Amino acid sequence: MTHKILLLAGDGIGPEIVGAAEQVLQALKERHGLACEFEHALMGGCAIDAHGDSLPEATLAAARAADAILLGAVGGPKWDKVERAIRPERGLLRLRSELGFYCNLRPAVLYPALADASSLRPEVVAGLDVMIIRELTGGIYFGQPRGIEQDADGHRRGFNTLVYRDDEIERIARSGFEIARKRNGRLCSVDKANVLEVSELWREVVDGLAPEYPDVELSHMYVDNAAMQLVRAPKQFDVLVTTNMFGDILSDLAAMLTGSIGMLPSASLDAASKGLFEPVHGSAPDIARQGVANPLATILSASMMLRYTLDEGALADRVEAAVGQVLAAGVRTADIAGASERTVGTQEMTAAVIAALDAV
Ligand code: NAD
Repeated sequence: MTHKILLLAGDGIGPEIVGAAEQVLQALKERHGLACEFEHALMGGCAIDAHGDSLPEATLAAARAADAILLGAVGGPKWDKVERAIRPERGLLRLRSELGFYCNLRPAVLYPALADASSLRPEVVAGLDVMIIRELTGGIYFGQPRGIEQDADGHRRGFNTLVYRDDEIERIARSGFEIARKRNGRLCSVDKANVLEVSELWREVVDGLAPEYPDVELSHMYVDNAAMQLVRAPKQFDVLVTTNMFGDILSDLAAMLTGSIGMLPSASLDAASKGLFEPVHGSAPDIARQGVANPLATILSASMMLRYTLDEGALADRVEAAVGQVLAAGVRTADIAGASERTVGTQEMTAAVIAALDAV
């Protein structure tokens, strides 16, 4: 079967880093048996310039038709003033919700060669490998009613609604159990059940599934404690599963344990494991078109695509091993280099990864 991969380069450094990941996938196609074809479409500010919409109909149709989507990043100062409804980030939210990408995977992995980049002591983070699963299409970011209104006493009142249905909780919890099963078999569900009724239901539904996954060790943790534990002793965790807002905050916290935004991939999956894969970082307009962006977060996002959507786990292992080897050999883009280290550009880093694909 030939996988159809849609590439959405986006804005800023997007074309450089998606171009890098495409070269890696192309090398896998030519030399390691990956059966795939590429399609390209516009998304973000570049699509606003060309079509007046950050997610044009043609792009949405191509996304629906693809098996998997790789996105660079969208946005930049040029589009900060455009009308809210067509902003680049709105297009991204729409793409995720139109395609039902409710399961967001944010791994935080610290490559041994980069242990010094973390703000925590190397012994606390060396060997860190945590997966944070965030519910992405529900919860307080989408709940109704929401708004800002005028009270009778003249004060303005802002309000949002935190709401989860049992079926929404069940499907994200199942993702948690399934992924824990493929890793080290430990799942920690994060909530605020001591204060919130929604969390009470969340915990009840998660507990109700546990008997179906006897091989997974389930625990629960309040979100405030989870934030503390992630900084105190992050290696105690294997997989965390949580709501949209808690996951938003905890995944950024966990990401920073690894020290570099240029290294962090992510995936957003639907019920059939079709997915949108993208680096965690933005479009980095400050370094766009200079050939210095770190392509590894996007290359690792392509690796997640191979593992979670295209069922090519052995090729994903190969890409990750190649990245590990390149880092161990001391190849560094500027964002991950120490003060006295020689740095390479996007293209040289990409070429090093491609060369290592054959050596691992
Ligand atoms: P950013 O992640 O783009 O950049 C933050 C800093 O990290 C910058 O100094 C940048 O140079 C550096 N950086 C980021 N990625 C890097 C890489 N691969 N290699 C080397 N250095 C890298 O965040 P920002 O500056 O807050 O946002 C810039 C634009 O990106 C904004 O328009 C924002 O809305 C957008 N954005 C998009 C996404 C997305 O598409 N998913 C996510 C976040 C921000």
